[in-house]
Amino acid sequence: MNIIQDFITSTNTNRPGTSLTVGYVTIHETANTNVGANAEMHARYVKGDDAQNRQVSWHYTVDDSETYQHLPTDEVGWHAGSTGNHQSIGIEICVNQDGNFIAARANAIKLVQLLMQQHDISLSHVVTHQHWTGKNCPANLLADWEGFIADVGSSTNESIGTVRVLATALWVYNRADWDARYETVSRDEVFTVVRELTVNGSRMYQLRSGLYITANPEFVQFQS
Ligand SMILES: [Zn+2]
Repeated sequence: MNIIQDFITSTNTNRPGTSLTVGYVTIHETANTNVGANAEMHARYVKGDDAQNRQVSWHYTVDDSETYQHLPTDEVGWHAGSTGNHQSIGIEICVNQDGNFIAARANAIKLVQLLMQQHDISLSHVVTHQHWTGKNCPANLLADWEGFIADVGSSTNESIGTVRVLATALWVYNRADWDARYETVSRDEVFTVVRELTVNGSRMYQLRSGLYITANPEFVQFQS
């Protein structure tokens, strides 16, 4: 993958230069849904005065097409509280409304897989910001963190079957959340299923595309 290195100036206060011994990867979402709030914008932001004043920094930002690196991985960033900062590489995933979150998630998975190889990090040490401080971050991925970790763990998502749409039109969701309606699909469309899960008491299938669909047999026909 192509990583654009655009480091924070070493004299900036949010690049403390403290040595980092990497044991974990910490996943964040930017929570900035503004149009244009992509990786390039965050690369500019983290080098600027506001990020210094807020005392924030992290290692990578990923959007649907690009990955920026803001800090070397042997230096501490300020993204996950003291304990998290001193043990982990921080990745921010963009949630800009003009971006494709499914593609950004897929790019983040590739980056995490690369970092796990480079730093000999186990899957159990890929954690959320919430893990360190309790903050509701990464907000979208927390709805199905298990699914994210499963995807990181399997480079080629193994299919458990296919699902055919029985309804005239049916919603698919961009995260494991019944409120996260993404687009509609039509009768007789067929999708590859990688996982089944329960969300608020109702079954969903996770599709290979990263989208989710109801598992209600009234609306879809599953075939293993
Ligand atoms: Zn966070």
